Amino acid sequence: MTVRVRFAPSPTGFLHLGGARTALFNWLYARRHGGTFILRIEDTDVERNKQEAAEAILEGMAWLGMETDEGPFWQSDRGALYREKIQELLASGHAYKCYATKGELDQMREELQAKGLKPLYDRRWRDRTDHPEDTPFVIRFKMPIDGDRTLADAVKGDVTFAYKELDDWIIARSDGSPTYNFVVVVDDIDMRISHVIRGDDHLTNTFKQAPLYEAFGKPLPVFGHVPKVAGLSKRLGSPSVQRYRDELGFVREGVINYLSRLGWSHGDQEIFSTEELVAAFDLEGVSSSPGAFDIDKMTWVNEHWLRALDPADVAQRIAPRMGIKPDARLAAIVEILQPRSSTLVDMAAQAKMFYRDDIELDEKAAKKWLKVSTGPHFDELIPKLTALASWDRASIGAVFEAFCEAHELKLGKIAQPTRVAVTGGSVSPGLFETVELLGRDACLPRLAAARAWIAAREAAQ
Ligand code: GLU
Repeated sequence: MTVRVRFAPSPTGFLHLGGARTALFNWLYARRHGGTFILRIEDTDVERNKQEAAEAILEGMAWLGMETDEGPFWQSDRGALYREKIQELLASGHAYKCYATKGELDQMREELQAKGLKPLYDRRWRDRTDHPEDTPFVIRFKMPIDGDRTLADAVKGDVTFAYKELDDWIIARSDGSPTYNFVVVVDDIDMRISHVIRGDDHLTNTFKQAPLYEAFGKPLPVFGHVPKVAGLSKRLGSPSVQRYRDELGFVREGVINYLSRLGWSHGDQEIFSTEELVAAFDLEGVSSSPGAFDIDKMTWVNEHWLRALDPADVAQRIAPRMGIKPDARLAAIVEILQPRSSTLVDMAAQAKMFYRDDIELDEKAAKKWLKVSTGPHFDELIPKLTALASWDRASIGAVFEAFCEAHELKLGKIAQPTRVAVTGGSVSPGLFETVELLGRDACLPRLAAARAWIAAREAAQ
């Protein structure tokens, strides 16, 4: 079978992580099977800002690398096809006009509810031919009246529904506009969709939609209902992909890897490149119980990818956050920060240290490490560093090592005071790399300033 799948978001403002996961499952399925991935924007019910909202979805998908093979198609452009299909169903007797007024329907529902019954439409116009003129009507679809329907869901297995739970639902409103479940089926048929992979909140819709395929004389696609992502609570803030990218600094490789594992598994493997996902993804691995969102795990996965990426690539990604241009120096800074960063935000914050003209000594760190006894150490080290022909980590390291050997000192005894002197605080990546990347012009004056600070401390004693 030729695989043709679609992602069909309603443009409500942004690409939600849950929606991105649905898109990803479809995209992976298409890529795995050499199929076609179609994007359809379901914008018929959306009144405002739909263009902007759809653009946010497209932009989020492009960032994640889920390129589409067909589309985007906009449902708002497809009204003519929907009108034609409504007429087709009326002509074939699969749909009918219902003239019941709102008052009548309200009364009908109240009576059913009073009897403890579900307020389903009682099909009062299903078989009538005495149609009034110049009276508004809706168009309803003739659903099977009773019996059960079992669908073999690719994720959930066999799912059974009793038709008595569903009524003859409206396919066109009194203004002629088609309804949601109707246009989904018309589009899925028209776009020759082979597999409908979507959230399991659509399961009831599927049972409304299935008889519609038959009314059109078309085979059903394979349905795979994916459990919703649990735990994307408000407490975590907006679940938009863009927020996880911009505000929280996740990399696309991390987001893709994490989302793929939300409700899908392949043995106990946690880390997947996109290529590995394409090779491994299948619907059998999708779990029928919901995957729970876990920000700590997402951060752990992101950390992995942030470390695995090429430093020059990461430099490109953090440079705009820092308002600088990416260059070889930034790539070298990235490289020493990669083992100690979990997000780009975190990395950019640490990288700032290398771009400051001045530092401020952290008082606590200075008091602890810039002791009077350290003064003579600086007096010896500063000229040696000043005399260095090449300012690189190996040469810098050699100066410190020779110093420690001569004085029978542990490296930490001089590394920490130097770190405080050149960075202002007591935490940084490896000292020699840090000193190299801060540069001679930043380090020598800072060491001199620290030496002066020690002298002042001594004088005050
Ligand atoms: N537009 C629907 C949604 O955003 C998806 C419908 C479908 O996949 O069939 O939930």
